[in-house]
Amino acid sequence: MTSLTLFERIIARDIPATVVYEDDKFIAIKDIAPKAPTHLLVIPKKVSTRIDEIVDPSEMGELWLTAIKVAREQLGDYRLVVNVGKGGGQEVPHTHIHILGGWEGPVPY
Ligand code: AMP
Repeated sequence: MTSLTLFERIIARDIPATVVYEDDKFIAIKDIAPKAPTHLLVIPKKVSTRIDEIVDPSEMGELWLTAIKVAREQLGDYRLVVNVGKGGGQEVPHTHIHILGGWEGPVPY
């Protein structure tokens, strides 16, 4: 038996989340512990543990284009962040892109 990732359980509506975008390949949700006034996660429904496992250029392109589309719709100006592996700060082993923004005044690094 394989266990589902946290994000697969959110996609399956087994765990609640605030969904801001969804199509057949991706979902975007509000981060439960936001590190910016607006903090979203763009998550591929096709599971990979970390972004550098994605080798298909169209799959990689669709992920980034979806993140950019959601970020432009939700924010206009934004920061995209990807944590890769434990040493890169990744806590959830299911590829995702962070969208951060909405700061008033100086933007923290
Ligand atoms: P990372 O450290 O790059 O793996 O990012 C994982 C992100 O998932 C963190 O910013 C967490 O706050 C967020 N997170 C964890 N659990 C949930 C949840 N149930 N719903 C929404 N976001 C979550």
